[in-house]
Amino acid sequence: MPFSHDMVYSLTTVVDLLNTSPAAGGGEGLTSVEDLRAFVGRRVISDVENLDDRDLAEVRELRDEFYKVFTAPDRETAVSLLNTLLGRTRITPSLAEHDGFSLHVHYFAPGASLAEHLAADCGVALAHVLVEDERDRLRTCAAPDCDHVFVDESRNRSRVYCDSRTCGNRMHVAAYRARRRA
Ligand SMILES: [Zn+2]
Ligand SMILES: [Zn+2]
Repeated sequence: MPFSHDMVYSLTTVVDLLNTSPAAGGGEGLTSVEDLRAFVGRRVISDVENLDDRDLAEVRELRDEFYKVFTAPDRETAVSLLNTLLGRTRITPSLAEHDGFSLHVHYFAPGASLAEHLAADCGVALAHVLVEDERDRLRTCAAPDCDHVFVDESRNRSRVYCDSRTCGNRMHVAAYRARRRA
């Protein structure tokens, strides 16, 4: 991946967010403020406190927008959708070092809500994916019963399943059984 470690981190965050969406096939993963707190905790999102129902609604709305960018049918659509999103996001780059992470760039503005925070940091990361012409790394799982998204970080862009330990294994087993039957 031609991306810096903090870009990759933000892309992993956006993937995590998108996979909580009903569009990813697993039902609503953000049903409560508690779920939102769990997401913030596992992604170690800094400077976010006092989450409430409004944050939940805003983050779900943003998630829909990111989903459209991530799964856009062509580059033009992705660029246009992302520009709309970035256009209304306050962005203030600053260097930070926290929670054991080495020096990295934050893009969210001071006092940003969780949705603004994600729009800035994940939006910029996706912008770099487009700039580097790496959009084909933004993938949806090839397993027929799974719509999870993932970023293919493999050198030869060969990854097709969201998580090789689950979907990958499952599909290999199914292919093996099909071969034995044949
Ligand atoms: Zn940080
Ligand atoms: Zn999958």
